[in-house]
Amino acid sequence: MAATIIVPGLWEVSLGFVNAFVLESPDGLAVIDTGIAGSAGKILQAVKEMGREPTEVRHLLVTHCHSDHAGSVAELKRLTGASVTMHPADAALVRAGKALRPLKPTPGLINALVCRLMVASAPTEVEATEVEHEVDDGDILPIAGGLHVVHVPGHCAGQLAFLWPEQGGVLIAADAAANVFGLALSPLYEDLAEGQRSLAKLAALEFEAACFGHGKPIKRDAAARFRKKWRPNSAPVGQGQATTHAG
Ligand SMILES: [Zn+2]
Ligand SMILES: [Zn+2]
Repeated sequence: MAATIIVPGLWEVSLGFVNAFVLESPDGLAVIDTGIAGSAGKILQAVKEMGREPTEVRHLLVTHCHSDHAGSVAELKRLTGASVTMHPADAALVRAGKALRPLKPTPGLINALVCRLMVASAPTEVEATEVEHEVDDGDILPIAGGLHVVHVPGHCAGQLAFLWPEQGGVLIAADAAANVFGLALSPLYEDLAEGQRSLAKLAALEFEAACFGHGKPIKRDAAARFRKKWRPNSAPVGQGQATTHAG
């Protein structure tokens, strides 16, 4: 089965090297990210495996313009009639059928290998499609009881993450980070320093679980893992001022 439950109400759909997600909402389903071109059938098959119907897909939330995330949004839109939501910086590219700004590999041997093996051959275009809704940092989408939008540029200028406060809190980090060989930076950034600032911002949020565009979800204590990596000097949440002895 391609669809697995991360927490009740949120499913991960494995599309090989990249993941999409399906969030159950009272008004239907939200599909978060759409894989490479040609993935719509697999995503809708996963929806059926969940016991739901493709016609129930109401929202297509695309975390950024890259072809492994926005590759099947046009096809899914045709098949379901759902509306598309993105950050304006990347919505402009997808409307024009573009999928890429210049990227630089993150330092490290594995990142260099990933770039050489996979990313160099990745399409620079996606099928152009209309994006009906533009959202930005701090917006709360009326989906699944309220889905919080977090703008996390760096990997991609229009990169979005989503925080779902239900079920102890779930962060859909998309490509702000990756969890293929452990929790780490993405292998590529448009602007690494900005990406690291975005990760410090995510690490200040509260969430129990996190899931990623690439790699496995973290189901427990995910925010603590983010803080250890990207806010190492911050006080652990839940601990008050350190008690000091008088004198
Ligand atoms: Zn990406
Ligand atoms: Zn990706």
